[in-house]
Amino acid sequence: MNIRIVIITVLLFSTKLFAQTSENNIYLSNVVYEPSEKTIFYKLGGSTIPINVLQYGNATHFVCINLHANEITSVQAARSVLEETGGTLIKIENKQQRVIRFRLKGINYGFDPNRIFSRVGIEQTLKENSRVSPEAVEEVEKFAQRILALIPENTSCIVALHNNTEEAYSVRSYLPGSDRETDARAVYADSLQDVDDIVFTTDSLLYRKMAEMGYNSIWQDNQNAKRDGSLSIYCGERNRRYINVETQHGKVNQYAEMLQKLLSIIQQGNKKSPVLPEDSRDPAGTRTQDPNIKSVVLYQLSYKISK
Ligand SMILES: [Zn+2]
Repeated sequence: MNIRIVIITVLLFSTKLFAQTSENNIYLSNVVYEPSEKTIFYKLGGSTIPINVLQYGNATHFVCINLHANEITSVQAARSVLEETGGTLIKIENKQQRVIRFRLKGINYGFDPNRIFSRVGIEQTLKENSRVSPEAVEEVEKFAQRILALIPENTSCIVALHNNTEEAYSVRSYLPGSDRETDARAVYADSLQDVDDIVFTTDSLLYRKMAEMGYNSIWQDNQNAKRDGSLSIYCGERNRRYINVETQHGKVNQYAEMLQKLLSIIQQGNKKSPVLPEDSRDPAGTRTQDPNIKSVVLYQLSYKISK
């Protein structure tokens, strides 16, 4: 489903327009790039899982990836943004379902495609969604490797496209006393933002830049975060730059805005941020002293001192 709205504008100073409808915000892009599209029909047991790769222009320094096929808002926004900026989009086609199901030797299995980037994660997600067998683990592991092989080695950032539902998972999940507290090295929550609209990253620089722009931001604790087989953990363990952009379902406009800002940061840097020594990181309170900050800080957990 690709509804692209092309508008012709004579405005000299504006390249981006937003329109409101009663239902939703619809982001309208200026189309610069038409994507070339290829589909890999991946055989997973008795199922065929199409993986679409869309290339907008030649840029490959970042790759957008959508693993949860039901999170269509993120894809809709990303397609509009990539039409303007160029870039790569990889997406799993799974009939708009989150859980991928397949049949192997007469047995049905299911798994969450964002829990398959480690052996432990695969076993856990198979157990949660169906059952585990060595054959099924092996099949899912091969599928994960196929997806990873689509991401160019030299790409400087992996951008994961996700959506969530009202307050089920939000920046609050990482605040002290919450269930994911120990997964975060630093959290910035902004009172002007919806708690569901977040970025979650392995990278200190992206964390800081997005927080400076006033977005709810979480820096993953790459050493201590729970090993759940997700792509963020996989990237954190390998020191790869990863960021998940996530809004509530339906908020295309907000999603496109966050993604545009992020891509402009990536394009400016276009290289890995240096790993900072322990004592040179921002001291607590730096964020709140920034003169560019216009919003009220709801909460800032600065870099954790003790575990
Ligand atoms: Zn998701």
